[in-house]
Amino acid sequence: MTTLADLAGAGVLAGEVMLAPLTTYRFGGPARYYLEAHHEEEILEVAAALAAEPVPVLVLGRGSNLVVSPQGFPGLVIRPAQGMAGVAVRGDGLVAAGAAASQPAVARRCAAAGRGGLEFMVGIPGSVGGAVRMNAGGHGSDTASWLVSARVIDLLRAVVTERPVGALGLAYRHSDLADTDLVVAATFHTLARPRREGEAIMREIVRWRKQNQPGGTLNAGSVFKNPPGDAAGRIIDQAGLKGFRVGGVAVSEKHANFFVAEAGASAQDLFDLVAEVRRRVRDRTGIDLEPEVRFVGPFEERR
Ligand SMILES: Cc1cc2nc3c(=O)[nH]c(=O)nc-3n(C[C@H](O)[C@H](O)[C@H](O)COP(=O)(O)OP(=O)(O)OC[C@H]3O[C@@H](n4cnc5c(N)ncnc54)[C@H](O)[C@@H]3O)c2cc1C
Repeated sequence: MTTLADLAGAGVLAGEVMLAPLTTYRFGGPARYYLEAHHEEEILEVAAALAAEPVPVLVLGRGSNLVVSPQGFPGLVIRPAQGMAGVAVRGDGLVAAGAAASQPAVARRCAAAGRGGLEFMVGIPGSVGGAVRMNAGGHGSDTASWLVSARVIDLLRAVVTERPVGALGLAYRHSDLADTDLVVAATFHTLARPRREGEAIMREIVRWRKQNQPGGTLNAGSVFKNPPGDAAGRIIDQAGLKGFRVGGVAVSEKHANFFVAEAGASAQDLFDLVAEVRRRVRDRTGIDLEPEVRFVGPFEERR
């Protein structure tokens, strides 16, 4: 049976690829094995080899919700790439998008075709695969509201299934997808909306974000999920933690749920800042904020 090492030897998998440039925080050491996938078949070939040599798996989108350790990832990283970035708007209003399509591209493509609903994606710098896995959302909407189904490869069994939205367990910034489930494509329903209306909605979203979020900085969006009926940013701000920092990472002065990395910062600084903000908020308010960003690889728990 073909192993991952065989595939690496044959050049199908790359070795020791640095993950930092592939994430919005620009943190992260090397992946032991790395596949930039353009076709479903490549992923299935690698999945079959994974059965012969089980190693940890990370599916990487646009890295806009990830904090990767400097030690990197000791297993297999699969990143859907350009060949899987198509977006097709059908006559019946269904939209088929590949996993690697960016969410802003989906929003803009739909608006240009006179289809509405997905405008909220214009401000989320992730991929369609990441949108499904995280149930990405904002501006009063989310992925679950528009998703019809996702095409998913179970990397442990090397099988592909079309899973209806109801089978994905989507909830606020959550899905039941496992780390070994790879979304290859998604189908959305949309509604008829004149192009200029869709574009106006997107302009307003972009304006709001520029005004309220620290654009142009190294971050991964909201660090914590909002607790029911409240906003993590408001709670952190109320706790007096705007501007609070560990090493080269600070709580944004503009939006307290964005933690911004500066030159020379480390992923460990961010890990420590998240832990300390969580502890201080818990001590002060009794609220235990749950991280939305995902930490990948080993980090040191410090107290
Ligand atoms: C400036 C900024 C603003 C943001 N605003 C928002 C917002 O308004 N709303 C919001 O919800 N999020 C927001 N985010 C967070 C992030 O963009 C979303 O969570 C996005 O959906 C993540 O997509 P990604 O492709 O970057 O996923 P990644 O960060 O690469 O991965 C995130 C998770 O999804 C999994 N994953 C990625 N691709 C796939 C795939 N093809 N199949 C299966 N699993 C996959 C990964 O394994 C990981 O668990 C923001 C981030 C930034 C930097």
